[in-house]
Amino acid sequence: MKRSVFEYMEQYGHEQVVFCRDREAGLRAIIAIHDTTLGPATGGTRVWAYESEEEALIDALRLSHAMTYKYAAAGINLGGGKTTIIIQPGEKTSEALFRALGRFIDSLGGRYITGEDVGTTAGDLEYINMETDFVVGLPAESGGSGGPSPYTAIGVVEGMKACCQEVYGSESLRGKGVAVQGVGNVGRHLVKILVENGASVVVADIDEQRVKGVVDEFGVGRVGPDDFYGVECDIFSPCALGAVLNDETIPRLRCKVVAGSANNQLAEAQHGDMLHERGILYAPDFIINAGGTIADTDQLEGGFNAERAKKKVARVYDNIAKVIEISKRDGIPTSRAADRLAEERIERMSHLKRIRVKMPKKIARAADIFPRR
Ligand code: NAD
Repeated sequence: MKRSVFEYMEQYGHEQVVFCRDREAGLRAIIAIHDTTLGPATGGTRVWAYESEEEALIDALRLSHAMTYKYAAAGINLGGGKTTIIIQPGEKTSEALFRALGRFIDSLGGRYITGEDVGTTAGDLEYINMETDFVVGLPAESGGSGGPSPYTAIGVVEGMKACCQEVYGSESLRGKGVAVQGVGNVGRHLVKILVENGASVVVADIDEQRVKGVVDEFGVGRVGPDDFYGVECDIFSPCALGAVLNDETIPRLRCKVVAGSANNQLAEAQHGDMLHERGILYAPDFIINAGGTIADTDQLEGGFNAERAKKKVARVYDNIAKVIEISKRDGIPTSRAADRLAEERIERMSHLKRIRVKMPKKIARAADIFPRR
């Protein structure tokens, strides 16, 4: 290890890191609890053949830190958490492994709630759920949302509308040219809603079958994946992979707005500044793609309710509008305003804990002795 665990915790601002081991189940997991100011630390379980324990630790710290910001900016009362499970290359996971993790999560008494991430499936969540209730994103038949992608797409459309309001003075997508990169789980739903809203859509994907599927079904246009960045459009929508906004691609963009679902769209923080300087309105990824997360955690309100979840997801519009407002107020790019939105909310709510809502036990006993008449 280059640094100690506490040094890493200090760097990312973590409250707690839990190392879990179960030899028989082959479990080696790290649960990172970043910040519980707003509520229980929540975030998925990632299974990966990490090259070292340090790599798994840093991934858990980095991803849980990001979840704190995601929930805070989305207006959800949860903190950031994440679990990483270390496996060997090619190793298969098992029921015993996930149930062992479930027991460790249960032992935290609700300080941490898990969900799906890279390397875990809805079925794995059901194994975890056999041992603990602290799980979100379960399949519909087990009381969950049944998958985040449709909700993520709804949120992206709301974010696009907020951007159009700012740039064109109207939130309408009718007649707007939208270029969607990646028509997988989210992109496909997104194209459907955009077409329903009267947008003029072109798509690109390296998977020819997927392109053909949406072109045939929705009558949209297509471009080759390599020509995609130069397409003239109103909204450029990255819905495939990360780091697509970089030194090479930003000068090629011919759009007014960047608004898509992909995670970590900016190759580096400075690329948010570059977009700002070019006068392109960037809808920060972790704010605009929060719809699935918002829907997944709706389950915590006594069971998943699709109508309520959709209403909450529609608030992505307001969240993007708030980011734009902070960007203008402070004269900073939206990429930086997004962090500020999250930090300001945590700061504003942190003092609430000072207001005592339960009597300490001693005082409660005094109340028994001297009952009010
Ligand atoms: P997906 O794997 O179902 O779809 C991604 C699509 O992008 C695939 O069709 C793939 O062929 C295509 N693609 C890959 N490289 C490409 C390239 N160079 N050019 C064009 N297309 C390319 O993934 P998804 O679930 O739809 O998620 C899309 C993005 O949104 C990812 O970055 C994901 O992390 C992010 N995201 C997804 C959700 C969700 O609810 N699924 C939530 C938040 C963020």
